[in-house]
Amino acid sequence: MNISPADERMPEILIVDDDSTVVLGLNKVLSDIGRIRFAADGQKALAMVAERLPDLIFLDIGLPDISGLEVCAKLKTDSDTSDIPVLFMTSTTGSDFEEKVFDVGAADYIGKPLNPQVVLARARIHLEYRAALQALESQARTDGLTGIANRRSFDERLSTELKRAKRYQLPLTLMMIDIDEFKKFNDHYGHLAGDECLKSVAQTMSMSARRPADFTARFGGEEFAVILPDTDTKGAATFAQILLNRMAEMKTPHAPEARRQHVSVSIGFTTLTPEYGDNDLVNESAIIETADQALYEAKSGGRDCFKYVEMRKRPLL
Ligand code: GH3
Ligand code: MG
Ligand code: MG
Repeated sequence: MNISPADERMPEILIVDDDSTVVLGLNKVLSDIGRIRFAADGQKALAMVAERLPDLIFLDIGLPDISGLEVCAKLKTDSDTSDIPVLFMTSTTGSDFEEKVFDVGAADYIGKPLNPQVVLARARIHLEYRAALQALESQARTDGLTGIANRRSFDERLSTELKRAKRYQLPLTLMMIDIDEFKKFNDHYGHLAGDECLKSVAQTMSMSARRPADFTARFGGEEFAVILPDTDTKGAATFAQILLNRMAEMKTPHAPEARRQHVSVSIGFTTLTPEYGDNDLVNESAIIETADQALYEAKSGGRDCFKYVEMRKRPLL
């Protein structure tokens, strides 16, 4: 089946009902506002959700295998699926029923027989609400100037990756990157030109981190942080050199007062390795402080270079 680009941008709606007349009716009403998929029982519905996350689910209560309430409860306990709005369809109503439906985390319910206009209106409301929430969440994780991840998002990711590195005994590298003599750049070209420079450095950093798990964020001011999961010291050193090269290729003229002709960065990194031994004692601030210390060494070592500092063999903080 051909899916046009317009279709790809459409929200995806999953209809779960064993009654084919309901499914056909809903398809007719909803196909203008979303891409529709169907499941005739609870297990199939859960499998389809796992395969590709829908934006909205219409769920029958009385399914042939497990109850719709159970399906909804399962979706709500999994963080990947908990924010998908679920609309129940039922011919049973009453306060006891209402409580059960909202207890399992449903967004709403619609009475059967279904009124096409009510179905369409409810679907629209919940899809719009979800899209607005997603936009807000993404905004809260994005740095307004550079468009890359912000500090808050960095903190969350570092925490997640640190847990993963400990659990699976994998190396984890944290890199801190700071623009050299950026104050002079701002003083010479002005703050707006400084902002433009920050944006292009951010782009260069994030485009260079190419593995899907690599994560680039604006740490603050003219400082960036890159999390490189499953990356040892040797791999990190190669990556740091690539970043320095990319900066050199940009050839952004620096202020005449600066020591270098073109804008450069200094990089400090540390790697938590499974061999470190005391990994359970290592926390986020210990890694950040060590990478920061390496960055300080890169600055005092002349700038436009990278330095590595080993994680200290004792519990930090
Ligand atoms: P060093 O090589 O030691 O890092 O020197 P530096 O001048 O880069 O460091 P310093 O910490 O003295 O100055 C950082 C400068 O970064 C000062 C500030 O004006 C500039 N800066 C921080 N955030 C922004 C921003 O959002 N926009 C602009 N234009 N400049 C910023
Ligand atoms: Mg600087
Ligand atoms: Mg700085």
